[in-house]
Amino acid sequence: MLYRSCCCCCESSHHSFSYSATPIARKTASLPQQPIYLPITTQASHSRHTIMAPATAHDELQLCCSPTLPPSDNNSYPTRNPSSPTSLFRIDMHTHIMPPSLPDLASLTQQPPSPPPTTTNNPTQPTTKDTTAKPYPWPAFRPSPDHATTGAVDMYVGSTFFRRVSASCYDPAARLRDMDAAGVDVQVLSTVPVLFCYDAPVAPARVLARVLNDHVSGVCARFPGRFVGLGTVALQDCDAAVEEVRRLRGLEGMVGVQVGTSVEVGDEGGGKVGMLDDERLEPFWAACEELDVPVFVHPLGYALGKENKDRWGRYWSSWLVGMPCETALAMHGIMASGLLVRHPGLRLCFAHGGGAFPALLGRIQHGFDCRPDLVATNACGLEAGQGQIWIDSLLHDPDLMEYVIRKLGPGGADRIVLGSDYPFPLGEVPVAGKMLTEDEKLGRFMSWQKRAGVLARNAIRFLKLGREFEDRFEERLRQFAAAHVPSPDEQIKDASWDGWRHRDSAIDLDEGEDLASRKPRTESSSTGRSPGSVGSQ
Ligand SMILES: [Zn+2]
Repeated sequence: MLYRSCCCCCESSHHSFSYSATPIARKTASLPQQPIYLPITTQASHSRHTIMAPATAHDELQLCCSPTLPPSDNNSYPTRNPSSPTSLFRIDMHTHIMPPSLPDLASLTQQPPSPPPTTTNNPTQPTTKDTTAKPYPWPAFRPSPDHATTGAVDMYVGSTFFRRVSASCYDPAARLRDMDAAGVDVQVLSTVPVLFCYDAPVAPARVLARVLNDHVSGVCARFPGRFVGLGTVALQDCDAAVEEVRRLRGLEGMVGVQVGTSVEVGDEGGGKVGMLDDERLEPFWAACEELDVPVFVHPLGYALGKENKDRWGRYWSSWLVGMPCETALAMHGIMASGLLVRHPGLRLCFAHGGGAFPALLGRIQHGFDCRPDLVATNACGLEAGQGQIWIDSLLHDPDLMEYVIRKLGPGGADRIVLGSDYPFPLGEVPVAGKMLTEDEKLGRFMSWQKRAGVLARNAIRFLKLGREFEDRFEERLRQFAAAHVPSPDEQIKDASWDGWRHRDSAIDLDEGEDLASRKPRTESSSTGRSPGSVGSQ
């Protein structure tokens, strides 16, 4: 297998992935040997092409990209996962997709359509802005120089190059090929964060959100069972965000919503950067709770380069350090503000394993202990919301996984979902879940059942995907156990069973012996509860 890493100066797929055509056995002795390349089975697919929003196609890209895109009524694309029936079921919660083209949003800025009537007072909705004075730098896609051979597309923000993406970023057929090669059964699709456009004029931003959501829904409808989707909203306009969340419930395949870690509110395009605990977003959180819509929170680390390019623009820092810090700041605000106490029905999943937040828990706890008046005046302690906090598995470090499971509290491993950041090189690509299934260190603190849960079951529960997905998970679990897991007597006799050894009869880190070593914190301060952990300490 050939895999060339990204350009070191930005998260760009200047170098694309290449796969060998021959089966490759997993190297780690701890896992059953199995090929990860298997024949692709094709069967007729039903297509339902949906771009329902008033979009104007980008002619140049459309013309150039069309030859590489799957025709809308083609039946030659796989609709069934061909990976081994004895491999564990995998649902990748953290993947990004974009449409092959975008509407002409600049023209919508100049002549904004009348938005649908709103029924609530909306303090976040900007009412006036001179959009002619400084055109908003809308994202745009242009064919890369090697597009004809690779399908790559260059993303621009206004006239500034942002990143190069491979065809897998917009082409479902390419994604399915990668999924089958990696053994991923289902991808949860969400938009590329640069398309959030939270600092954009509201009217075209609402149109953009609808276009993106209709596109994702169309892909899900075309390949049911392989894709489900998370919607996006124009979060700078709370009424618009609520309306779109309600609309998502009627779109096929849409099972949740993705938001960024911050949003510019107030003076449109030049307002202050607000956080997710901003009280003006309360109607949005209330709607997600009422509608039982799970929320995936993804950082907007690239914005830090805009805030202070000298500090964050070097060494890929805005991506490597900025993104985890953005997530930590958002989580801290959500915890300390009491948002989860006000909305006990919310379920939030944070990308990149919660970013830097888990590593800061000791400091945050100490800060609360000595100055609770500065830290969490409205919070009732983080324990109140521990069951509402989920994270993805994108940690790149098995030792950190162990630590995070401890900090998530009892049952913490059941609130971790597989996330790869596909198709971007900074993610766990090309094999989502590679660390979970192949790293021998995981055997110290996670049974194979727990890891199977992270690979799929936890996402089924977080997204409430329903009986069909649960049955698929359970069936694959049975098949896997029958094929690969020795009986307890056989395990004792078989010294080679050293990877997930004894774990099916042992106690998981988050359920047993390690909990006993945790000392409950002394109740402190005015609230008598602690804010310093995702779960109990
Ligand atoms: Zn991502």
